[in-house]
Amino acid sequence: MSERPLHYPFADAPAPGETVEVAPGVRWLRMPMPFPPGHINLWLLEDNGGWAIVDSGLATDDTRALWARLLADYRPSRLICTHFHHDHAGLAGELTRQHAIPFWMSAPEWAELMRLDRQQSGDDAAARAFFLRHGMPEATLSAAIAAFSDEGFAGAPPDDYQALTAGDTLHIGGASWQVLVGEGHSPGHVLLYCLEKGVLIAGDQLLPKITPSVGLNAGNAAGDPLAGWLASMQALQGLPADTLVLPSHQLPFVGAGVRAAQIAAYHEAQLTRLLALAADTPGCAHALARVLFTRLTGAVSELMAVSETLAHLRYLEARGQCRREAGADGVERWQSRAH
Ligand SMILES: [Zn+2]
Repeated sequence: MSERPLHYPFADAPAPGETVEVAPGVRWLRMPMPFPPGHINLWLLEDNGGWAIVDSGLATDDTRALWARLLADYRPSRLICTHFHHDHAGLAGELTRQHAIPFWMSAPEWAELMRLDRQQSGDDAAARAFFLRHGMPEATLSAAIAAFSDEGFAGAPPDDYQALTAGDTLHIGGASWQVLVGEGHSPGHVLLYCLEKGVLIAGDQLLPKITPSVGLNAGNAAGDPLAGWLASMQALQGLPADTLVLPSHQLPFVGAGVRAAQIAAYHEAQLTRLLALAADTPGCAHALARVLFTRLTGAVSELMAVSETLAHLRYLEARGQCRREAGADGVERWQSRAH
């Protein structure tokens, strides 16, 4: 793995309500978040007299107020969301209805947005059954689900959408943006790549310092999200080395290949640890997660650790290195074949 450091061409992030040009016709702005990492980066792409917005921010009053100021100067032409998570699509319904602009997203992300909307309306049976089967204590699970539903960071979703598919080319203000789709962090995460500008809008698929979460949950229980994630990290290593990466958190950077290789190496190391751990002490995903992740900070963090551990167990299972068995209590326990 290369040890070349990442290069950050912009030392300072734009102040709230301000924008900064990062490439011709591409402007960077930030919206606040009341939880780590404290902000999300959003992008405006010049679009024939208007501006295409990439990602919406959370459905909070702070974000609403900043958009009201910004969109007085930047007439919106359309909204594209990289994926369904609250910080990316929470305000999508409001923005698209208020400004009567079309909404673009991949089909798998739209399905998740619809599922999340049903879950927020109280239909959490599938999520509950899934995590109980993987050993989460009932009280912790209830606290985590309540935290997800009470937070109110996502408004009602857009009424309709236009589907983005891998390989599509979006023509935005005379520039051609190629649609790349990554899996793992979410089921059909859209990245936009403009060869002529040398810019990749990466969403959460490639962050300079945070390792994005990759999880198995009720929505993708039959899948193998880590395999999709590692394939995406491999594909990103094929981009030109001087590509400017615009991530959803932290600072724009150059070094997509270096960063993608670092993230892949982290998951390989986790797989090795888990293989050894589940050979010595076979257990449910919850028990294994508590050993694998030592810095859990509460119910939500515990649920995410279980989900991430499961993505790794599922990957090992699909490659014949691990198997699971349900006990009389209905809880699935995993054992690896390291020994
Ligand atoms: Zn995300």
